Amino acid sequence: MGSMDGPTPTTENGRTARTNTTCNGNKQQQKIQSDDGFDLSVVAADKENEVFRKGKPGLLPLEVGTRVMCRWRDGKFHPVKVIERRKMVSAGPNDYEYYVHYTEFNRRLDEWVKLEQLDLDSVEADVDEKVEDKATSLKMTRHQKRKIDETHVEGHEELDAASLREHEEFTKVKNIATIELGRYEIETWYFSPFPPEYNDSLKLYFCEFCLNFMKRKEQLQRHMRKCDLKHPPGDEIYRSGTLSMFEVDGKKNKVYGQNLCYLAKLFLDHKTLYYDVDLFLFYVLCECDDRGCHMVGYFSKEKHSEESYNLACILTLPPYQRKGYGKFLIAFSYELSKKEGKVGTPERPLSDLGMLSYKGYWTRVLLEILKKHKSNISIKELSDMTAIKADEILSTLQSLELIQYRKGQHAICADPKVLDRHLKAAGRGGLEVDVSKLIWTPYKEQG
Ligand SMILES: [Zn+2]
Repeated sequence: MGSMDGPTPTTENGRTARTNTTCNGNKQQQKIQSDDGFDLSVVAADKENEVFRKGKPGLLPLEVGTRVMCRWRDGKFHPVKVIERRKMVSAGPNDYEYYVHYTEFNRRLDEWVKLEQLDLDSVEADVDEKVEDKATSLKMTRHQKRKIDETHVEGHEELDAASLREHEEFTKVKNIATIELGRYEIETWYFSPFPPEYNDSLKLYFCEFCLNFMKRKEQLQRHMRKCDLKHPPGDEIYRSGTLSMFEVDGKKNKVYGQNLCYLAKLFLDHKTLYYDVDLFLFYVLCECDDRGCHMVGYFSKEKHSEESYNLACILTLPPYQRKGYGKFLIAFSYELSKKEGKVGTPERPLSDLGMLSYKGYWTRVLLEILKKHKSNISIKELSDMTAIKADEILSTLQSLELIQYRKGQHAICADPKVLDRHLKAAGRGGLEVDVSKLIWTPYKEQG
């Protein structure tokens, strides 16, 4: 779920790392600094002192699972765990590259590094905690397991714990490093299960309109001469200024739906890759100009959800992040639910970023209404007005300490000063959805 242009990601040790993404339309650069201004390199240095120095011969090549210090793009050493290794082309017997996970950072920063970036004096004695890892894989919920099953390329057999583990191993290593999409070259964040024939490509070229992908620039150029799409397939259901939203039925546009999933997975860690795109509608947000409609982000939605999910996956593409599009997509999903006359909720699990974005949305929407209606409104009425589930309204208001119990009943506190303070803390709402520009009827199965 959800990569959003919202709050800051959290590193594994619970510290908050701020990822400043700047896009010059060509290259992304990321800087990491802890939220409280604490320099992460200090943590790294402390860690280094604890490490038993063990630069013994015969250490190379390093085993998968090895913990070692690695020089990152900030020029400083950070603790990493070796996830994978590979022999370098035209190299000596010990010339390997290592795929490492920076244990203090989000997995999106995992990368291939050269031996000279590693401080071999800092290699730790133990290799991998097999027991701990096994416990983690067995602790997966049925829901997570179902998702893994669906991600599995063959996807037909029930996976046992061992093959599940193997699958996890496989999906850990980023396969495609960059993509070209329209006028952007974008560094990818995560593994995506492209068909095997694409596994030897570090870079893929996407047609920004039909999302077909190719291994070579010349192939893309040839494709662009004959591709007649200038926007996503499907119906344009919203247009306001230069923004358009297209509704794409996964059943009618299977290839597009699959391409979109491959693309999205490059930026979503725990996304389910639905090969069965038939069951989904995709809402693709575009910025339009005289060259066409350029995809900014999207969300997917099950056509029928027994759990009243109104959103399955959500993504704002990196060049468009931090501009309020993620908030726009969330707001849009609720506008659709309102038109359907149903309450809706995002599919779980939500990423930490996703949860923060949703809490911000719920807070802004509910508090704006409370400001107008004072206390004279019930949770049920709030739910009817907003399509937000009653228990999510209650938990949002409780977490803001706006619910008081009086004589066995709960009452909503609507002190304007308190509401304003919370609204300020919840941040800006991003781009507004202009409901008058939404021309849409809810999905109905065609007979
Ligand atoms: Zn195309």
